Amino acid sequence: AKTEGRNKFYFYEKTLTEHMQRLILLENHLKQALEQNAFHLVYQPQIELATGQLIGVEALLRYTHPTLGAVSPIEFIPICERLNMIDEITEWVLQEAARQLKDWKEKGLHIRMAVNISPLNLENKTFINKLISIFEKNHCDLHDLELELTETALAKSIEEVSKVLEKLREIGVRIALDDFGSGYSSLVYFKDFPIDKIKVDRSFVKEIPKKERDIAILDSIILLSKRLGIEVICEGVETEEQASYLQMLGCEFAQGYYFSRPLTKKELENKYITTNIK
Ligand code: C2E
Ligand code: CA
Ligand code: CA
Ligand code: CA
Repeated sequence: AKTEGRNKFYFYEKTLTEHMQRLILLENHLKQALEQNAFHLVYQPQIELATGQLIGVEALLRYTHPTLGAVSPIEFIPICERLNMIDEITEWVLQEAARQLKDWKEKGLHIRMAVNISPLNLENKTFINKLISIFEKNHCDLHDLELELTETALAKSIEEVSKVLEKLREIGVRIALDDFGSGYSSLVYFKDFPIDKIKVDRSFVKEIPKKERDIAILDSIILLSKRLGIEVICEGVETEEQASYLQMLGCEFAQGYYFSRPLTKKELENKYITTNIK
């Protein structure tokens, strides 16, 4: 038993060290990742259930470390936030997204672009002006932009965040509440927040139509949103069964592997830009 305990301790110590080493590697490289072109965006389609039509995409950030390879945004975004790099990174994402929006519009694909933002971005007083100038520079319409933020992110200072969101809506930007239902006090956000859309968390979608409770909750969320004039999209739709059930519940839009994984620019164009040549 004694040796076993010692082994366990050794194992623990080793993984902790490994964890630290990985963190150091990531931190060191992330600081120069923008200059090294280590980021790129992929785009996941958002679909209108009734028609199967592409209405927009969510831009998702990808990062490749020279030795660690592809690293998930779930791991590197919090590190960037801690390193005070998140404003710079969001700016890069917005710039890239705007450029892509314009490019697709010129190719006849007029869709919305959703971008994930960090709560820290909203605390930066220059955020809105930067956003406006990026869209002006790229000759893009701010009405085609949707900013996604999470509920937990908003828990900080409701009044201050509300003011910023109000301003964003004044300039035409749409606001989507991400991972809806995964945090606490969702109804408070419904009540007080200036939002255009909610993205229902995939945990509610995962077990339908088996789980009656989830169906009841989804049904109510959809009904309530409609009463408030808020658009609903369900995330994490992986099967045909889920898609048709959601449509039956009155959900208009969906996103998930059933329709498409996140795609590169090229892949998206091949799938959604129809030419007469084929
Ligand atoms: P999110 O905003 O909730 O994004 C949805 C995540 O679910 C994406 O993971 C997407 O690839 C994945 N997903 C899409 N469809 C399905 C499905 O049918 N089933 C399952 N199981 N998963 C699906 P990803 O790309 O790894 O992003 C993870 C998170 O990282 C995002 O969650 C978002 O919070 C954050 N993130 C990604 N890009 C950015 C960014 O540019 N800026 C910021 N601040 N955060 C970002
Ligand atoms: Ca999102
Ligand atoms: Ca989400
Ligand atoms: Ca999420």
